[in-house]
Amino acid sequence: MDSSIKDDIDQFKKRDNVTILAHYYNSEEIQSVADFVGDSLALAKVAVDSPADTVVVCGVRFMAETVKLLNPEKTVLLPCAAADCPMAHMVDADKVAMLRSRYGDDLAVACYVNSTLEAKALSDVCITSANALDVIGQMPQPIIHLIPDRNLGAHIAGAIPQKQFIFGDGCCAVHDDIDACTVMALKDAYPGAPVLVHPECSAAVRALADVVGSTSALVGEVERGRAGTYIMCTVEGVRHRVAEFVGPEKKVVFPAPTPRCVDMDKVTLEMLRDVLMHHLDGRQERGKGFCVEIDEELARRAARPVERMFSLSFAKRA
Ligand code: SF4
Repeated sequence: MDSSIKDDIDQFKKRDNVTILAHYYNSEEIQSVADFVGDSLALAKVAVDSPADTVVVCGVRFMAETVKLLNPEKTVLLPCAAADCPMAHMVDADKVAMLRSRYGDDLAVACYVNSTLEAKALSDVCITSANALDVIGQMPQPIIHLIPDRNLGAHIAGAIPQKQFIFGDGCCAVHDDIDACTVMALKDAYPGAPVLVHPECSAAVRALADVVGSTSALVGEVERGRAGTYIMCTVEGVRHRVAEFVGPEKKVVFPAPTPRCVDMDKVTLEMLRDVLMHHLDGRQERGKGFCVEIDEELARRAARPVERMFSLSFAKRA
């Protein structure tokens, strides 16, 4: 790691009221300078509790937008403007309109938080891979159109057979490309190793899982579990979290080719330093990243399903 860039970033953290958030899928060097590492919703919630005026989200665009939606008074920066999740855009607004017109009040549109603000604004409720079962289970409508991820949709539908599901056509190519044959090969190589699978993976891979869960849940399985080796079917960045908090006595192995998210990998330490220099010091010669601004009307419509999600997840826990 370039220590002078890291020193510059540390100076900003000491001098300015800034917090740096990273996703489990970011590179090791980005995770190492972050104040908090978590999944996308955890990042948004940490930002709410943080006293910082400026939040840097070292992820993809929908993550920074969700943080801004929940923290409209804060400055939210994205180091790499080009880091954008393809799946977040895989929502067919015409199909949503057609289904609403066909099924009327019997239909609810449930939108994965890994989506654009425009997709959220079309929806009745948002979900995450961690709370989808709780939240959708409490929706009164018998028919659920789950957007955009068809794999997450199929996973949830299997667990709530009393509802009818219509899936979106999107998927995360990183998770969808994980091949069941390579997972089988790892099961042969590491007999007894638990298979931990993200619900964005295909049905064939989910069928091999000992646990299907959100990234946080899968990391938690390694932290709490007794096995020495785990077969991890999600993005390789979680290896750093395991190495830091669990130690070398537990090993995680990944199916080949190693799953990596090209958009998360676009975020570099240099870009993180530069976005701080540009927005906090006004150093125009540096890469400026992206400062999230959301149109007021879009923010109002996109916030509604997110708030509904929170109210249903809290109601379930109360
Ligand atoms: S891992 Fe998949 S869902 Fe997550 S940001 Fe990358 S492309 Fe999007």
